[in-house]
Amino acid sequence: MITLTSMRPIYLDHSATTPVCDEALAAMQPYFAEYFGNSSSLHQFGRNAAAALDAARAAVACELGARPNEIVFTACGTESDNLALRGAAFAMRKRNSAKTHLITAHAEHHAVEGTLHQLRDLFGFELTELPVDGYGFVDPDDVRRAMGPNTALVSVMAANNEVGTLQAVGEIGAICRERGVLFHSDAVQCPAYRALDVKQLNLDFMALSAHKFYGPKGVGIMYIRDGAPYVPTNTGGGHERGRRAGTVNVAGAVGAAAALKYVAKRRDVQSARLQALRDQLIAGILADVPDVRLSGHLQQRLPNHASLLFKEVDGEMLLMALDVEGIAASTGSACTSGNPEPSAVLVSMGIAREWALGGLRLTLGYDTTEADIDAVLQIMPKCVERVRRAMQA
Ligand code: PLP
Repeated sequence: MITLTSMRPIYLDHSATTPVCDEALAAMQPYFAEYFGNSSSLHQFGRNAAAALDAARAAVACELGARPNEIVFTACGTESDNLALRGAAFAMRKRNSAKTHLITAHAEHHAVEGTLHQLRDLFGFELTELPVDGYGFVDPDDVRRAMGPNTALVSVMAANNEVGTLQAVGEIGAICRERGVLFHSDAVQCPAYRALDVKQLNLDFMALSAHKFYGPKGVGIMYIRDGAPYVPTNTGGGHERGRRAGTVNVAGAVGAAAALKYVAKRRDVQSARLQALRDQLIAGILADVPDVRLSGHLQQRLPNHASLLFKEVDGEMLLMALDVEGIAASTGSACTSGNPEPSAVLVSMGIAREWALGGLRLTLGYDTTEADIDAVLQIMPKCVERVRRAMQA
């Protein structure tokens, strides 16, 4: 019998954020107080910081198959998406005033969706939002068919944060390259589980975020292909070769580079290990809890990612019931002033409201053990039953 007191808290929300690995912590440490210089300063303090920044940039580039000058450090994944999409859209319009058509798909992260909606609503760009199927897949042929002579840019995420679906970004990138259209991908959820080669994927822009791969919060990475059209929308000093103004977070960049190396060494072994545990978790829940189904695809998903739909269960109540038991998960539904709305991603996949309101995401990480999964499987049926009973009361 597992009780709260006998259990350490079980963190199954690694898609939200990950702990900083020891390697990143150690690498960053000297750059807070000892080598604290501003990397733009010309004196020795600045030069020390600039040297660390150069090394971090080179290490990140090497892991992504990019050149160091194609890597821009930002403050988060959201900022990388914002800068890339706005920067590319404005640059394309500047080059050719007719190039104002943008393509994306439903089920993107708000960082992409919100930026593209703003480009449409405030700046007059035409936006095509492609449908996704019941698993959340974008059909590359739909991307091809949506392209016209004025298409400037396509943005499709590499892996969906809510349902884990892995998109055919290689295929979509090839179509974009063949048609001379810029390709951006939000790959924030990938690095801990998938190697990313920007050239192989035909990417022009890509967004990453260090805190999703065992690096620090407050550091994003934006890949910009050398020569890709781009107008900086964060204006100010000439930092990051004029592409993102603002004093660079040197310690953060050093930590991001160390974390990327850390996951590169472990991702294959961890992917295989976590996929087995994740499958065990999914199979156990489907077997032991009535009226539950998987959302997203069983195989074509991030190996650490389980997302489930509990019929006629309030996802937030389930999350809280699990939290009381020491299990940290997350839900896809956004509850605004007591009026729960199903997640837009689940709705775009055609999932009915009575299922979509009961969305729960369990994302494993490098520290997840078999004992954690066993404990969750023991506790989950009771929590679901408790919530269902409370909802009927
Ligand atoms: N894109 C995806 C797919 C994400 O999952 C997230 C975070 O959840 C972001 C972008 C935003 O990243 P950040 O938290 O670094 O702004």
